[in-house]
Amino acid sequence: MSPHAPLAPHPPAEGPPLLGEPLALEFVNTHYAVRGCLRDGLAGTRELAWWLWACRERFATVLSEEHLARIGPSDVMCFQQLRDAARRLIEAQTLGQAPDPRDIAQVNRAGGLGRSWPVLVWENDGRPHAVPTGACGPLLECQAELAHETVRLITSPTLTVKPCLAPGCVLYFERTPPRREWCSPGCGNRARAARHYNRHRNPTPPPAHP
Ligand SMILES: [Zn+2]
Repeated sequence: MSPHAPLAPHPPAEGPPLLGEPLALEFVNTHYAVRGCLRDGLAGTRELAWWLWACRERFATVLSEEHLARIGPSDVMCFQQLRDAARRLIEAQTLGQAPDPRDIAQVNRAGGLGRSWPVLVWENDGRPHAVPTGACGPLLECQAELAHETVRLITSPTLTVKPCLAPGCVLYFERTPPRREWCSPGCGNRARAARHYNRHRNPTPPPAHP
């Protein structure tokens, strides 16, 4: 059992999806929908703590249970604002639209905040090991990592990000393989069922998806 298990033994009911996408996409996908209703997977301190806990192995920053237990409303707001800026930038990129400079500034500001370094700890009778140490604290370092991942994703020459085309889905995914249209098999099934339904309701071909 994970040493962090007592912190979040149960994920939130119908919590945000974790689809194995690049971390920046998992982050923006905390804005998601359940049966057509939009949800915020970072809505409060418990939700943010759970998401960070669930993704903890994808961060270089080490988050202890104590750090997660100390998350406050202002931390939630910072993560939400960074997530929303990253999401709008990815949306602008996928739509071929101009980005909002304020979103670029938000991501770049977060990316410059956290800088940690390894401190060598070597007791006489033990093995040398590195303890990550930072001046900003692990929550800011996690925001910086998310900002770096967002920049990496948006500027990657090889990654192609797409919005899921299933009805009601608001998630993004990395388009591998290139013809993939849905974020998950569940969305693929729903989209095929909707197409089948529309085809039988409307004998004329439906208009192409915008
Ligand atoms: Zn989807």
